Amino acid sequence: MRSASWYGDPESYELRQTLSKLQGVPMQNILVGSGIDDLLGLVVRVFLNPGDVAVASAGTYPTFAYHVKGYGGQVHRVPYTDELHHDLTAIAYAARKREAKIIYLANPDNPSGTYYRGSDIKRFLDDVPNHCVVILDEAYIDFAPEDAKVQTEDPRLITMRTFSKAHGLAGTRIGYAICNSEIIDAFHKVRLHYGVNSIAQAGALASLNDREFVQSVVREVEQGRRDYKRLGAKLGLKTIESHTNFVCFDMGDAATARRTMNELLKRSVFVRRFDSPPFDRFIRVTVGSPVERKMFADIFEEVMHVTSMS
Ligand SMILES: *Cc1c(COP(=O)(O)O)cnc(C)c1O
Repeated sequence: MRSASWYGDPESYELRQTLSKLQGVPMQNILVGSGIDDLLGLVVRVFLNPGDVAVASAGTYPTFAYHVKGYGGQVHRVPYTDELHHDLTAIAYAARKREAKIIYLANPDNPSGTYYRGSDIKRFLDDVPNHCVVILDEAYIDFAPEDAKVQTEDPRLITMRTFSKAHGLAGTRIGYAICNSEIIDAFHKVRLHYGVNSIAQAGALASLNDREFVQSVVREVEQGRRDYKRLGAKLGLKTIESHTNFVCFDMGDAATARRTMNELLKRSVFVRRFDSPPFDRFIRVTVGSPVERKMFADIFEEVMHVTSMS
């Protein structure tokens, strides 16, 4: 890498070249951005006019909705199924009915941790109206089973990946989109050309050349999910089968979830809880390192005693 006193490469050429080889996708179908959060904003800016509608699950990863609101659009939110999956049928139906411009779908999903097979997503695309693009947010794809990947060249599909999760580069801000080259041309007209810094590009390239590291993270995270599943069983709590780097514990109801989070916070443990049903009864806990998991298990057990007595 050249010195950081120079501007970085606005094309992320080397990184796109490497991604192209690894993914078997032509370079002109890859755009690098400052993380998925940045790329989500580009899609909204390009495809959504003020007053337009976008569709997403109610309670899914929130950044897409922030961008939609910021550009004067409206998010139509579709409830999850009882099994805590995206309701693909209802999402496609809503997109047709509301003449949506964009659908946002995270697979595997955050915060549920559930996933769909690529073949399910492909079938879903058949139901999506032609005027609508679909963002497939694959932030957690490295943690998912192989069959989660979608095999399609559907021109409406914009797939997004990040170096923030399995690659461990969240602080450097870098991710990429794979899509139709016409869509990429539209992104070039509005994107911030030096927004992806040279240190992030070098880090992303280095991590692509270190598959061992990513595989070790994925294995470690699988172990962590098993630990949490066992912890849940021991404490009499259901957990959602996760394909990400976190696990949701079912606290039974929203009040208990809130109380548990506050008690954990008093003990310097930060977990997430959610306002939107059905996730309002869950707390979401990051897998972390074995030492962190042990600490969490001890403190969580103590908190369970405290909250069950009050
Ligand atoms: C973490 C996360 C992101 C953010 O990715 P960045 O590349 O760090 O912006 C996007 N989507 C989902 C579902 C996430 O969990």
